[in-house]
Amino acid sequence: MNKNLRTVRLGETIGILGGGQLGRMTAMAAKQMGYRVVCLDPQPNSPCGQVCDLQIVGSFDDYSAARELALQSDVLVYEFESISAAVVAELEQEFHVPQGSRLLEITQNRIKEKAHLLQSGFPVVPYRVVGSSAELAQAAAELGYPVVLKSAIGGYDGKGQAVLTSPADLAGVAVSGPVVLEKFLALKGEVSVVVARGANGECAAFPVGENVHRGNILHTTVVPARLSASLEKQATQLALCIADSLGAVGLLAVEMFVTEGGIIINELAPRPHNSGHYTLGACYTSQFEQFVRAVCGLPLGPTTLLYPAVMVNILGEHIAALMPRIASLPPEVKVHLYGKSGAPVPRRKMGHLLLRSDAPDETVAWVEEMLGIGGNRES
Ligand code: ADP
Ligand code: MG
Repeated sequence: MNKNLRTVRLGETIGILGGGQLGRMTAMAAKQMGYRVVCLDPQPNSPCGQVCDLQIVGSFDDYSAARELALQSDVLVYEFESISAAVVAELEQEFHVPQGSRLLEITQNRIKEKAHLLQSGFPVVPYRVVGSSAELAQAAAELGYPVVLKSAIGGYDGKGQAVLTSPADLAGVAVSGPVVLEKFLALKGEVSVVVARGANGECAAFPVGENVHRGNILHTTVVPARLSASLEKQATQLALCIADSLGAVGLLAVEMFVTEGGIIINELAPRPHNSGHYTLGACYTSQFEQFVRAVCGLPLGPTTLLYPAVMVNILGEHIAALMPRIASLPPEVKVHLYGKSGAPVPRRKMGHLLLRSDAPDETVAWVEEMLGIGGNRES
């Protein structure tokens, strides 16, 4: 029997590799359902550790720390991609790790992820893998400027990316080791779909979210997405098929570009996703509860949208404007703060707001003004 089909019963222990906000909200959903939760993170009193029964302080590539977590857990999950796939591969020999190391190994490496999508017939942005400055120049000429260079591993929130608008920009970049060069597309918009998949193949997609990024970091998600019915259906089908193609267990978030030519897959994440935070409040089942259900072998919950909503990220630079206003915010505004310690660092995700809204543009404008955000979408 597939050992992944095992049901983790209420009262048993979920071990989370990673202690960030995604782990925190997963742990809160799991605690609500009656599970014990332990986590591993290098930072003591991490956002997740604050709400867990126990946090082990240790590095993610430290097998002995991960094993210590595993020994206390009935099921192990990862909440972000920078966990060592080698450590997870070793853990899954001995312990119950339903997401598995293969999903992590593919999605933590842009080159492997794109190769999988391309080979499986999914639409991806035209790209080349380049390993030297000469290959970069040739690939850029073939793809046609503008292009965007992306590191193969470790990139998030636009880190490790450079847009090149003409051959003159080649002088400013040094390529060492394989990286991805992509055509920089004119986007009509961006959307994402979070899909849950159980070890038994049961799948459920959350509603399509319409995303706006500022400075390459997610700024807002609006649901329902303002897409034609056929594009909405296409986005959902693509996400479900990609999750199946990977044999994913747990959650898979699929980021997509909307272009004149249709929907193109941008990237994948094997975990809860920032663009799915609206589900915590606006859906019958949150992505965090669904994650717990999928990895614990429980039936998936209904993903029905309960009300139209807007999610706005709170970054470090917004904290000074937000804090004095928190007590006087309209009570309908749901404030989520992640318990991150230290002075708020610009671009760091500190929390998010969820607002029920039938007029998303007006709602976003109101929040932006409250947070002191200017109108320039690129800044
Ligand atoms: P990250 O891992 O940092 O989220 P992404 O590849 O998702 O990296 O890029 C972040 C954002 O940058 C995207 O959501 C999109 O707004 C913009 N972007 C990335 N690649 C392209 C592209 N090829 N064409 C147009 N915009 C892009
Ligand atoms: Mg992205």
